[in-house]
Amino acid sequence: EKRIYDLGEGGMHLVHLLGGKGAGLAEMRRMGLPVPAGFTITTAECTRYLKHGRLDEGLVNEVREAMGRLEAATGKSFGRGPRPLLVSVRSGAPVSMPGMMDTVLNVGLNEETMEAMVALTGDRRFALDSMRRLMQMFGTTVLGIPKEEFDRATLRVARNNGPGSADMMDLDTLDGLVREFGEVYRNHGLEFPQDPYRQLFMSIEAVFRSWNSDRARAYREINGIDDGMGTAVNVVEMVFGNMGEDSATGVVFTRDPNTGEKRLSGEYLVNAQGEDVVAGIRTPENVYGMERRMPGAFRDLVEACDRLERHYRDMMDIEFTVERGRLYLLQTRVGKRAPRAHLRITLDMLKEGLISVEEAVMRVEPEHIEGIMHPRVEDGQDGSVICSGLAASPGVATGEIVFSSDRAIELSKQGRRLILVRPETTADDVRGMAASAGFLTQKGGMTSHAAVVARAMGKPAVVGAEEIEVDHIGGVLRARGLTLREGDVVTVDGTTGRAYIGEVRVTEVAERDDIDEFLRVCDSVSRLQVWANANTPEEVALAKRNGAKGIGLARTERMFLGNDRIGVVRAMIMSRDSEERRSYLDRLLPMQVSDFTEFFRTMEGMPVIIRLLDPPLHEFLPEKEEILERLSGPADGESAAELKKMLETVRDLEEFNPMLGFRGCRLGIIHREIYEMQVRAIARAALRVRSEGIEPNVEIMVPLVGHENEMKELREIIMKTFSSEDPEGRIRYKIGTMIEVPRACLVADRIAEFADFFSFGTNDLTQMTFGYSRDDAEGKFIRQYIERGILRHDPFTSIDLDGVGRLMKIGVELGRKTKRDLEIGICGEHGGDPESIEFCHTIGLDYVSASPRRIPVARLAAARAAI
Ligand code: ADP
Ligand code: MG
Ligand code: MG
Repeated sequence: EKRIYDLGEGGMHLVHLLGGKGAGLAEMRRMGLPVPAGFTITTAECTRYLKHGRLDEGLVNEVREAMGRLEAATGKSFGRGPRPLLVSVRSGAPVSMPGMMDTVLNVGLNEETMEAMVALTGDRRFALDSMRRLMQMFGTTVLGIPKEEFDRATLRVARNNGPGSADMMDLDTLDGLVREFGEVYRNHGLEFPQDPYRQLFMSIEAVFRSWNSDRARAYREINGIDDGMGTAVNVVEMVFGNMGEDSATGVVFTRDPNTGEKRLSGEYLVNAQGEDVVAGIRTPENVYGMERRMPGAFRDLVEACDRLERHYRDMMDIEFTVERGRLYLLQTRVGKRAPRAHLRITLDMLKEGLISVEEAVMRVEPEHIEGIMHPRVEDGQDGSVICSGLAASPGVATGEIVFSSDRAIELSKQGRRLILVRPETTADDVRGMAASAGFLTQKGGMTSHAAVVARAMGKPAVVGAEEIEVDHIGGVLRARGLTLREGDVVTVDGTTGRAYIGEVRVTEVAERDDIDEFLRVCDSVSRLQVWANANTPEEVALAKRNGAKGIGLARTERMFLGNDRIGVVRAMIMSRDSEERRSYLDRLLPMQVSDFTEFFRTMEGMPVIIRLLDPPLHEFLPEKEEILERLSGPADGESAAELKKMLETVRDLEEFNPMLGFRGCRLGIIHREIYEMQVRAIARAALRVRSEGIEPNVEIMVPLVGHENEMKELREIIMKTFSSEDPEGRIRYKIGTMIEVPRACLVADRIAEFADFFSFGTNDLTQMTFGYSRDDAEGKFIRQYIERGILRHDPFTSIDLDGVGRLMKIGVELGRKTKRDLEIGICGEHGGDPESIEFCHTIGLDYVSASPRRIPVARLAAARAAI
C-alpha cells in the first residue's frame, strides 16, 4: 500500500489516511491555491510505528525519496546551501484535535545551513530567530526537555541584555540565546543534532508518539474519538513569516465564528512564526489591518477564503503566512463556531445557494438549538463589572474561581460550579476546561486556545481581559481594585465579554429571529407535526410562540391545583354523595370554562386536546402525616372536625399501588359527574369562543383506557353531555383516547371503533410495559442498569424501541385497520426527544406533543427524521 502521498496527490476523500491537515493541504494544492510543497506520511504508518516502537527501514527509505522529490520541486537542498530546504514536521489526525499533538518548525537548520540562510537572505536576525525556535521546539517536543528551562534561559539572557522577549532581542542577544539553548541541551546530557536527517526522523517519531500524549488521550476521551486512528505526519516546505515587517503569520475564519456574520474574522502578527498567534504570546492585530500593511497578500487572502468556502460549502478556518509580501496557505478546516453563528451561517449559505434545504436541516443538531437559547445578563448591573475583555464564546456562567485545571477537576467532583481563571490556557487545560462552567483569561485573542476550545465546548468565555492580573501561582485575581481568591464567585458573560463579581440577574434570549426562520425551513420538509403539552394559558401562549401546531395534551388536573381552586376540589373529593359532589363541581365549572376559553382563543382554530381528569384523587389531598400534625394544633379557622373528615377520606382513598389504581377513565366511569362537568365546561368554552368568531378545534381525550367497553361507555356520556350544552350541534369535536395501557395497544382495533384519535401516553406505557414505577425506578436502579449495560439508555427519556416501540407499532397498525385516517400522536416526555421523534416519524404518527420549551428542538428533529 501507499505510505507517502505528495501534497496534491490526495484530497479530502483520503482524510482517514492523510488526516485532516494533510487532506486539506492536498485539496488546496489541487485547487491551485498557494500552498508550499510537501508530502504526507499516512496514519497507517503511525499505527505501525506505535506497535513496533521504531520507524521501519522501508519507510525511512521512502521518506528519503520523498525529500528528494521535494528538493527537486522547490529547487532547494536539505542540509546544504546555497538554498537550504527547511521543513515543518506536522501532526494531523483524521478528526480535528486542535493543538493536541506536536509540530516542529524549521527542521533542517544547523550551523551550516544557518550561515547559508544568512547569505541568502542577508538577514542574520531572521536566521538566528528561526534557529532558537527550532532548538526550543525540538528540545521540548522531541527530547522532552521542560519548556520552562527554555523560558528561564530566555529570561536570563534578556535580563542581561535589555528587552524581555525573544522577538525584541537584538542580534548579539539572540546569538547569546542560541548558545544558552545549547547549554540547556547539555545540562540534560544531550546535544542538538546537527544532522538534518536525524532532526527529521526524530521529529517524525515525536509526532507519531504525540498521538499517545496525555493531553491527546484526554481530548479523545472527552470528545469520544477513536484511539485507533493515529495521526498522519505532514512534511512541508517552510515559508517564513518572521522575515521582517513585510512578513507575518495569522489565522482567519471566513465568517465570524461568534455571530456568523459574513465577514473575515481573524488575527495576524507581523514578523512572527507559527504558533505565536494561537499561543497568545503577543496580542495580535485584526486581520483587516493587513489591507493597509500588505495589500497584495490581503487581496489574495480574501480571494482564497472565498474560493475555499465555495469549494467546501462551509465556513473555513485558515492558517496563513506572508513571506516578504507573498501569501501562503498552511492549513484549512471547517471552522468551529458558536451555535448561534452556526445557525446564521447555515441560513445564509442556504440563501446564497451554497447548500440545499436538506443539507441546511441536517447541518444543525439539536444541541445547536439548545445552545442558542442562551441566557444573557440583564441590564443595569454595571456596578458589578470587574473587567471587560473579548467576547470569545457566548452564554453566561456563574461559579467559583479556580486557578488551575487540576483544582478544577478535583472540585468539580464535589459538584461545584467553577470558573477557570488563567493568564491563558494551553492544550494541557482541556480536562480542566471540561470540568469548568466558564472561562476568564487575561491574554489571548479570538483565536486563542481558550476561545477555540470554549466555543467547541459551548461554554461561555471572556478572554484577553488585559486589565486584570492573574497570579495563578499565588491564587489571586486582581481586578478593578478587588482581590479575588479561589472560591470567590464570579459570573462571565461571553456574549458581551464582561465578567461580574458574584451572581447577577439573567434573562432568556430575546434574539429569536434566526431560530424562527430556520425552524420554518425545517417545517417545510417535515411530515410529522409538532404539538405541545400545555396546562395553563401561559404555557399555551409559549407553545404557540415556539411554533406548536396544536395542543396535544392539556392536563386539566393541573388547573385544579391553583390556589383559588384546591379548596373546592378537596371539598368535592370529600363529598359524601354524588349530590354534594355536584354542588362543588358546579363551583368548579365556571373556572374550567374560563381556562378552556383561553386555550381555544390563543390557539385560534388549531387543535386543542383536553384530557379529562387522570390522577387518583388522593393526589389533591394533603399527606396523612400532615393532617395528623395539623390535628394536634389546628390553625386559625381550621376545624378539627374538618380535618378528621379529611383524614377519613385519605384513608378511604389509600391504595397499595396508586399508579395502577383508581384513576383515569376508571374514575370517570364510577364518578361520572366529574367528567360530565369537564365536558360541559369544554362545550361552553367552545361555544363562547365560536361566538367571538374563532372556530375552535376541540378534541376530548379519555385517559388510561385498556378495554374497548370503557371507551364505549365514556363516548356515550361525553356525547350526551356535550349535546345537552350544544343541542344544535354547532361545535364539531372529536373524542379520543390515550393509549398508555399495554392492553390498549393489543386491542387498538376495537378501541378505534369508539375513538376518533389516539395519543400514545408513553410515560405510562413505558411504566406499565417494563413494570418499572417511574417515580421510584430512576433513582433506585435504572442508572446502575445502564452502567452495567443491562439497559442501553433510560427508557423514560428515549423510547425503548424493542418493547414499548413494538407495542406502539401494533397500536398504530390495528387502529388504522379500523379507521384508515385515525389521527395518532404521542404526548409523553418522549415527544421532545430527538431519537424518539425519529421513531414516531417512522411508524407514521401525525404529530408529537412536547413541552413548550422543547418545541424548537422537536421541530428540528421532525425535519431531520424526514430526510
Ligand atoms: P497545529 O495543529 O497545532 O495548528 P500546525 O502543524 O498547523 O500545528 O503548525 C503550527 C504552526 O506552525 C501553525 O501556525 C502553522 O501555520 C505553522 N506552520 C506549520 N508549517 C509551516 C510551514 N511549512 N511554514 C510556515 N509555518 C508553518
Ligand atoms: Mg494548525
Ligand atoms: Mg398517563
